[in-house]
Amino acid sequence: MKVGIVGAGMVGSSAGYALALTGIASEIVLVDMHEALARAQAEDIAHATPFHSATKVTAGSYADLAGSSVVIIAAGVNQKPGEDRLALLERNAQVFKQVVGAILAVVPNPILLIASNPVDIMTDIATRISGLSPQRVIGSGTILDTARFRSLLGRHLGISSQSVHAYVLGEHGDSEVLTWSNARAGSLAVSDFAAQTGKPITKEIRAEIDDNVRNAAYRIIEGKGSTYYGIGAGLARIIKAIALDQRAVLSVSIVTPAVEGVEHVALSVPRVIGAQGVMTDLFPELDDAEHAALKRSALLLKEKASAVRL
Ligand code: ADP
Repeated sequence: MKVGIVGAGMVGSSAGYALALTGIASEIVLVDMHEALARAQAEDIAHATPFHSATKVTAGSYADLAGSSVVIIAAGVNQKPGEDRLALLERNAQVFKQVVGAILAVVPNPILLIASNPVDIMTDIATRISGLSPQRVIGSGTILDTARFRSLLGRHLGISSQSVHAYVLGEHGDSEVLTWSNARAGSLAVSDFAAQTGKPITKEIRAEIDDNVRNAAYRIIEGKGSTYYGIGAGLARIIKAIALDQRAVLSVSIVTPAVEGVEHVALSVPRVIGAQGVMTDLFPELDDAEHAALKRSALLLKEKASAVRL
């Protein structure tokens, strides 16, 4: 499968690197308004492939995206001094207009994978601009938050994160919802697993995990300026589900008909992902507090997305 990546900055190139190492894509093409940057990233990533895969990695123009099944959009502009978030969003919406238009001119029915932040709003914008079916415009959403949640729970319980099933729903950001009530470890409720193995999830542990998941990005940004390896691997994971038609259940963001009574809002719930993109949306059982928190998140995202003029 051929994969295009528009935006060869830290996130786009990390996704390209993670994907190249998996060997799942036959070809990866990087496009950036800074052509020299795209060329350098492609060459650097290409040098890693002989150790792991046969993926061909090149840089190119939009025309070189022809034949791509999936195109990652990781392009965006950064906040100017004194610029508010809405103004930044509107500038990024303009970037998306140009980028999505240029992609669709050469790839008429792609699956778009949105990585630019704020990812839920950018997913809504890309869906509106492209006119593609929402199932083919997928934001990375809380895929990484869910991975962090599982990893921290696994670490506390002393088991592999792959034996933990727990999801973060809603916004990829401050209003996200860690769904403790349905978290399971090795088919047991995590609280039962914790009791049986003598590793109780106290109020303090729960608060610590919650804080770690919710604020991980802030801490990383403080230490190194931005986050990219985690999300790069998450994007590669979504592409694997598409390329192999895995029907994997992943928490990703798409414009969803209704969430907690809020209509046409882009946010994350678990979804089945296969060759054609999102096949099914899943709505897990939640407790009252989680329902209320998810509704708050949905309302907030709907309000933010509606404020953006295209
Ligand atoms: P991140 O950390 O999110 O990857 P970067 O600033 O490193 O952020 O990367 C964003 C990339 O998007 C930059 O390389 C920038 O050149 C690119 N970009 C911005 N606008 C456009 C555009 N209109 N077309 C293509 N690439 C763009």
